[in-house]
Amino acid sequence: MKEWLNKLNEQQRKAVMHIDGPLFVVAGAGTGKTRTLTTRVAYLIKEIGIAPESILAVTFTNKAAREMKERIIDMAGPHSVSVWIYTFHALGVQILRQHIDKLNMGYTNRFNIADEDDAKGIVRDAIKELNLDPKQYKVNYIRNKISYYKYFKKEVFDDQNEMNIYQIYDRIMVENNLLDFDDLQVLLYKLLNEHEGVRNYYRQKFQYILIDEFQDTDFLQYQIIKLLVGEHKNIFVVGDPDQSIYGFRGADYENANRFKRDFGNEHVLNINYRSTKKILDHANRLIKFNQNRPFEKELVCDLGDGFDPQIWSASTDIQEANMIANEIERLKKELGYSYNEIAILYRNNALSRLLEDTLMKYNIPYTIYGGLSFYQRKEIKDILAYIRVILDPSLDFYLKRIINVPKRAIGPTSVKKLEDKAKELGVSMFDAIDYLDVSSKTLQAFNEFKNLILRLRERLYDMNDLGEVVSYVAYQTEYIKMLEDEKDDISKERIENINELKSVFVQGDVFYEGTFIEKLTQILDQIALYTDLDQKLPEQGVILSTFHQVKGLEFKVVFMAVMEEDIFPSPLSIFESGSLDEERRIAYVGVTRAKERLYLTYANQRLLYGSVKYSEPSRFIKEMMEPKKVMVSKRIEPSTQNTTFLKAGDKVNHQVFGEGIVVNVEDDIATIAFKMPHGVKKILENHPSLRKI
Ligand code: ATP
Ligand code: MG
Repeated sequence: MKEWLNKLNEQQRKAVMHIDGPLFVVAGAGTGKTRTLTTRVAYLIKEIGIAPESILAVTFTNKAAREMKERIIDMAGPHSVSVWIYTFHALGVQILRQHIDKLNMGYTNRFNIADEDDAKGIVRDAIKELNLDPKQYKVNYIRNKISYYKYFKKEVFDDQNEMNIYQIYDRIMVENNLLDFDDLQVLLYKLLNEHEGVRNYYRQKFQYILIDEFQDTDFLQYQIIKLLVGEHKNIFVVGDPDQSIYGFRGADYENANRFKRDFGNEHVLNINYRSTKKILDHANRLIKFNQNRPFEKELVCDLGDGFDPQIWSASTDIQEANMIANEIERLKKELGYSYNEIAILYRNNALSRLLEDTLMKYNIPYTIYGGLSFYQRKEIKDILAYIRVILDPSLDFYLKRIINVPKRAIGPTSVKKLEDKAKELGVSMFDAIDYLDVSSKTLQAFNEFKNLILRLRERLYDMNDLGEVVSYVAYQTEYIKMLEDEKDDISKERIENINELKSVFVQGDVFYEGTFIEKLTQILDQIALYTDLDQKLPEQGVILSTFHQVKGLEFKVVFMAVMEEDIFPSPLSIFESGSLDEERRIAYVGVTRAKERLYLTYANQRLLYGSVKYSEPSRFIKEMMEPKKVMVSKRIEPSTQNTTFLKAGDKVNHQVFGEGIVVNVEDDIATIAFKMPHGVKKILENHPSLRKI
């Protein structure tokens, strides 16, 4: 038997070696679901001889997909590279790339993917085009409605104007051959549902379909799976209903029941290999409080009792943060943990600020996991827009982004003229340059841009090394020169980011198949699909993250911070048993990330959104504890360091007063000079309304 099969327990091996027909592995956190699924793919290829390209595995993040593919290649050999491992969205891209023209909606198979940022930009343009008041019609709000409308086909618009914004949004998307994230699912479903030929092709192609994190698939994704599964019914899903935490995004807890109804056949794993017994006991006790649990299961542990989870109360939020920082230092110095084995988890992003400030004070390196993604940075989006325009100059959307970056004396008025001309003639903006009626100086600027793109285009089609693309484009367009001329720290960082982008392309060269241009297109697709869940885990530093972002991951030490009523569970959820259940599942995900040590912390008093709040410990803490156990309240040793966070000369931003400069800091009070009319103010330096910039 293969060595990697030996590493599995009996139940896992059975699931791996189950060949034909459906199987639903329902099992708790850390029981090796992901490992089992990965091994099963390798087993099908290596032991059964299934062709890799006839296997489809679906994961929840692109990062998980990449890691899984690497592991499968390790186990089953290099030819397994052609196995299809994608997220649902990436699967949409793959299939729509071949067939979207069949939908006759005006899209061609060379579509591009608009990320959330782009989509919001288009909503903004639509609001502008309609001359509506941006204060009344808020971009984020309308963007969410559009998404909801597309996905759920439910009437959501309050008035005709909102409907008009949606229609213009839709028009701009089609005109630019752009799909948003919703389209990648909605149109995939439409295609498979309406086109028998396409459906049958994929049904025959995919002999085996496997899905990880099944509990977080939504109703549309379930329909997609149903359309894809052929008569063989070789569908293998793994999931943990107790970890279903994307209800707010339409993930449908019911899918587990649908699966049972449609396919049946269930298999259970119950040995947890991640966490020690005392941690698991907390998880088990907590989740029992949920009203609706389709599968009751108790996790059994393989790793011994371990340490008692710690429950710490602090009098204030600042004390809580100090307690955590002190303990992290102790874990490192006395117990030999390294920073990157430690995670601090909390309910929502806004809670990270005080923790960050405190870690900074203590000189503890940290990374916010799931913040602004690398791919959302301006310089990265600019370079990628260039590459897209070079590949296809008719993409007005991207062309507008870069036509005057670096500055080429093509101002907004000239761009508008070009846009109008293009509309009038029914051609792309790039082609409309030849017909423009502008001053000769402006025309020259336009022509220089056009020639630059044409020159780069010719060169690109001659290249065969993906690693060259980024630097070539960045230098030839003088983008790098622009940054060098700016000569500040931020531009240095931007240049480094562009270099980092280069390494993404170098990796892609090995990872993708096909011609140079095909590989290039795949990389661009992949990048467009990245979300904040796909960030690499930092190699150094403590991880700060929300519970949602760390699904499927594990850490030796976990701090669950700000465990307070009204924050966690969130205030809205308390009155609704369904969402209270979902909050409890989020807590369950948190507890089960911990391998060796778990800390639950809360404060009695906290400054939040500018006002003082008195809190009760989260009910989840009580639920996790054995009834007899009394809450231990740990006294905090005074912080050894008394350094302050701000110093004179620092630039800050205040929620109300805007930007200011710190004049002086005494104790915890900063004197800050703000722009008029606000003038000089004294503000608590740790106040949440204040941010260092
Ligand atoms: P989650 O519900 O959080 O997604 P999971 O069920 O997918 O968890 P895995 O991530 O696959 O669990 O496994 C949890 C940990 O246990 C991993 O570190 C994995 O390598 C390890 N593990 C899984 N199966 C075994 C086994 N049979 N023997 C030893 N370790 C195992
Ligand atoms: Mg998993």
